[in-house]
Amino acid sequence: MSTLLPGTSEDNSTRSSLELLYHISRELSSALDLRTVFERILFLCMQNVGAISGSIIVLDDSGDPVDSAIITGDMIHNRTTERLRETLERGLSGWVVRERRVALVENTKEDVRWMPRQYEDDEEQLPKSAVSVPLLTHENLVGVLTLVHPRTGFFTPDHVALVQAIADQAGISVLNARLYDESQRNAQVMTSLAKSASGISVSLNLEDVFKGILEQTDRAINVKVVALTLVDIQTGKLELRAVKGWRKGKSFKTPLEIKRGVSYWVVEHDEGIIIPEVTEDDRFDSETDQRKGIISKAILCAPIHYRGKVIGTLEAINPRSVDFNQDSLLILSGIANLAGTAIRHAQLFEQLQAAHQSYQSLFEDSIDPILITNWEGEIVEANRKAVQSSDYNKTDLRSMRIEQIHRIDKNLAVDGFAQLRSGNMVSYESRLCTSSGHEVPIKVYVREIQLDNISQLQWILRDITEQKKLDTLRDDLISMIYHDLRSPLANVVSSLDLLDTMLPSDDPAMKSLLDISMRSTERIQRMTESLLDLNILEAGQRIGTQKRTSVLALIYEAVETMESSVHNKGQIISYKVPDRLPNVMADQDMIRRVVTNLLENACKYSPHGSRIEVGARQQGDQILVWVEDNGSGIPASEHERIFDKFTRLKTENAPKGLGLGLAYCRLVIQAHGGKIWVDSEVGVGSRFTFSLPVVQS
Ligand code: ADP
Repeated sequence: MSTLLPGTSEDNSTRSSLELLYHISRELSSALDLRTVFERILFLCMQNVGAISGSIIVLDDSGDPVDSAIITGDMIHNRTTERLRETLERGLSGWVVRERRVALVENTKEDVRWMPRQYEDDEEQLPKSAVSVPLLTHENLVGVLTLVHPRTGFFTPDHVALVQAIADQAGISVLNARLYDESQRNAQVMTSLAKSASGISVSLNLEDVFKGILEQTDRAINVKVVALTLVDIQTGKLELRAVKGWRKGKSFKTPLEIKRGVSYWVVEHDEGIIIPEVTEDDRFDSETDQRKGIISKAILCAPIHYRGKVIGTLEAINPRSVDFNQDSLLILSGIANLAGTAIRHAQLFEQLQAAHQSYQSLFEDSIDPILITNWEGEIVEANRKAVQSSDYNKTDLRSMRIEQIHRIDKNLAVDGFAQLRSGNMVSYESRLCTSSGHEVPIKVYVREIQLDNISQLQWILRDITEQKKLDTLRDDLISMIYHDLRSPLANVVSSLDLLDTMLPSDDPAMKSLLDISMRSTERIQRMTESLLDLNILEAGQRIGTQKRTSVLALIYEAVETMESSVHNKGQIISYKVPDRLPNVMADQDMIRRVVTNLLENACKYSPHGSRIEVGARQQGDQILVWVEDNGSGIPASEHERIFDKFTRLKTENAPKGLGLGLAYCRLVIQAHGGKIWVDSEVGVGSRFTFSLPVVQS
């Protein structure tokens, strides 16, 4: 190939040019690899124009440099894109890109488009003249080619024309090569991701999933270290969970918290990053690196997503061969997204297994017998205690039906288990029939549960033998109290009445002692009467003598009974009652005792000097009566329970009592066709209200 020199004859020159272009087009069409293509273009230009050095920058569709090369003499300098970026922004190439036309620089010192000191320090070798041309295809700019020479005014218009002609030819080749390159890289990315996908989702075990992710990342990107961090679901802290490389694939039993550095930044910003040199990037934190046991130089980090949320990061550290680039980040981000799904699924599976295991151990070790049945009532599982209590072995039980073990409550069976189907728990008392024919009193709690995604029924059969014994004991005690106390007490009352008539009326000390004895005896009498009523009402007997009664009169009588106790505590009773109220039908003794009980409690559970309000009013066809205090109050969870027999709140220094008063009140009021309830707040006070139906005249 002859060098085209200025000054040859026109014919010769044209022929040479044509030969050259023909040669160039053959050279270019024989290669598809982008780098080979643009290096050849640069060489050909330099040879044919006589330039001593030159550069070429290949641009993508958005004008960003994709690749470049600088040639000085016969030396090719690669990895020059960053170096050339400056001239693209502010120098001669930039001007060419913007103007899209040739630039001829006669003297670099006098041309403002020239950015001095680009390649050489040797003054002799510094470029004094330059020519720069755009590489265009159908108006698309695909690159810039620049040639330089250490002599001013070296490039002639012929040179320019020649370079222009080469550039016109080269444009399409560069574009083809670039597109080919892109498609090759895309294919590579897709292949890497496809391979990774199959490697990551092979297991549901979290440790295996971590291992798969680390391995696939290493295989796809070829790095010295791969690290995986996750945001803890409960604490929200970012933690290092697995590393492949220096730590030999170790996964962390006690995860290391990450509070700074690259992964932290990536989670915060939800953005993948390439850090070619960690020392030049302030997102890098060397202390975090040390704690991880890693010495990083270059880092690639991508967020791991699950359902659009960042759940961690995948980090590739220190490449073994090729520097990190946009493609590596693309592959890493793809793997990270696959990883997100695999990790969450493994975590959910672990949680499910843990829940299953903990139910299993709760089930087996429960101190109550538990049976699991299907909705047909066939026993499918029984725990240790169920085997022990029923005397059947597990295999026997599994072939039985639940009703062979105990009698199912008729209400439960009547509504076809509808209560259970709506998610409610049902409880009732029954008897467990053991294999040896024994019957054990039990309280049954039934509810629906999901086991292995199948809806089943769980039956807890709690042994209440001890409770039943206690109940019987209490009942015996109560009947003993009222049978054995009632007649002697009646004797005491009549004797005290007699004494009252016999004692001299002018002895106040004697009178006061007698008053105390009479009041205490009355109280004991009231209690025994209440116990008697309680037993009658509990046995389901109806109240005998009911009369038209004025509730107001009963209220005044009850207050009078309580007056001295209230007075002794410095408390004040106020009334909130109307002048008149319609009558109710009532057993007067009983209703009076109800009001007295409520007043007694108000006095007992309220501090010295507090106020007690007794009130009554009509509401529709009901009379409402209430007793309100500013005492200790009752927590909402106990508002129902305190009306049960023997239920007392477990508070410190609580006044003494049996826990029968409110049970009595409820039985009496319900037997009268009314209701009783409490409104109360702890530390504020309580208001007990009952209603009784008005007599229809
Ligand atoms: P006793 O007073 O004998 O314990 P009761 O059946 O009358 O039994 O009351 C049951 C429980 O309800 C009491 O132990 C007490 O804890 C609580 N209670 C009843 N009345 C009041 C009240 N006015 N203020 C606070 N707590 C009360």
